[in-house]
Formats: sequence, structure tokens, C-alpha cells
Amino acid sequence: MREIQIGGLVPFTTIDYPGKLACVLFLVGCPLRCVYCSNPHLLCVGDGEYDPASILDWLTVRVGKLEAVVFSGGEALMQGDATIEYMRRVRALGFKIGLHTNGFYPDTLARASDVIDWIGLDFKATCEKYPDLTGQNIAYNNMLRSLDVWLATGKEMEVRITCDPRYVGKDDLVKITEILSARGVCNIAIQKYIPHFEDASNATSESMRSQFFTDTDLRNTINSRFKSVTWRE
Ligand code: SF4
Repeated sequence: MREIQIGGLVPFTTIDYPGKLACVLFLVGCPLRCVYCSNPHLLCVGDGEYDPASILDWLTVRVGKLEAVVFSGGEALMQGDATIEYMRRVRALGFKIGLHTNGFYPDTLARASDVIDWIGLDFKATCEKYPDLTGQNIAYNNMLRSLDVWLATGKEMEVRITCDPRYVGKDDLVKITEILSARGVCNIAIQKYIPHFEDASNATSESMRSQFFTDTDLRNTINSRFKSVTWRE
């Protein structure tokens, strides 16, 4: 059995798994190349910096203190069955399992659905803009398949839309939320875009980034479509 490669660890967080005290494991490797990626050091599969067995030991002494372990990245499902097997070992310690995912691996998500308790799924843009944003032609369709795989489980989820104004306009946000509402999604988060590595020739301004959050009509329209909308500024 191949061991997973872990490139980062946040030992304590209250915001990465809803309602639970958690830690986050960042797995290396991602099939996408989003223009705004804030974790470029995690995109290529290589030797992880953390020993998976040592992390399990570390988690063992946190039983009763932490409630959940969130797998993030990169894209944690890129490591396939190695990730699923590691999730099983972590869950056997008594932790809830969370996954932050770009949805690129719907078949792997289906195989992992019995061991994962909650996911946060990225819905990055409309179908037309997905390839430019992510560098991948099939990312949108795969993400939609993952959405449907997870909806079929009936388990909790949050769909996240990060509003990079270069790739998501207000009309796009309305279209995306229509799609999500029609599919039966209950919980979404609208996330403000934070520039990390912007090219000066294609930079965004604060007013461009905050336009979604200051538009009361837009907010009311979107809020009316879901059980819960988190506006994450
Ligand atoms: S999916 Fe996430 S980790 Fe992968 S390139 Fe996009 S922003 Fe970066």
C-alpha cells in the first residue's frame, strides 16, 4: 500500500469543518492550475514533508481534543486509494472526516463516500470560464459529477464560490446559484477573492473584489435560493 504524501498541517482550526474543532492535512498534488492558487507549493506530487505514520501518532494523542480531520490540498483525492485508506485509519480513531475538494475525481469521491462525513466543494466559475481559470477542459464536468455523487449520499456539504472578478461576474454568480439551487444544494458560501500572486497587468481592485458583497439585491436574490448562504468576506 502506497503511503500518502502530506505537504502541510494546520494543527487547530474552528473554521474548516462546520461546528467542529479540527485540524487540516494538506496533501500534495493537484490536477488544476487555477490562476489564483494560493498553494502553488502543493501542486506537484513529490515527497511529502510530513511522515504519515507520525501524523497518525500525533492524532492519537488528540483524541477527545479534536473532533474532525479535514483533508485539503492540492487535491487530496489525487492520491486515490492511498488517501481513502488513510482516511479510514484516521476515522477509526474516532474523528469525523472532512474533505475540501475541487471535484475533479468523482469516481474516487464515490469510493470514499462511506468514510467522508462532510465535503466543501469548489464551484469556481461558469462552464465557459472554467478552462481559462483552471487550465483544464474537463474540470467543470468532473466537478458537476462530484456534486451529484455527493448529493446522492444525502450527507452534509458546502459548495464554495470564490468570486475572482476576472472570472466571475454578478451575472455568473446568479447563473451558478441557479444551477446549485436546481440540483437541490442547501448550503453555499460566497467567498471574497483574496489576491496572492496577481499579475500586475491583470490586477483587481478592492472595489472589484467587494462588488458582490455590497449589492443588497444580489445578496437577497441568492439568499432566497438556499437554506444557508455564508458571505465570507
Ligand atoms: S484546485 Fe485549489 S490547489 Fe488546485 S490549483 Fe486550484 S486553487 Fe490551487
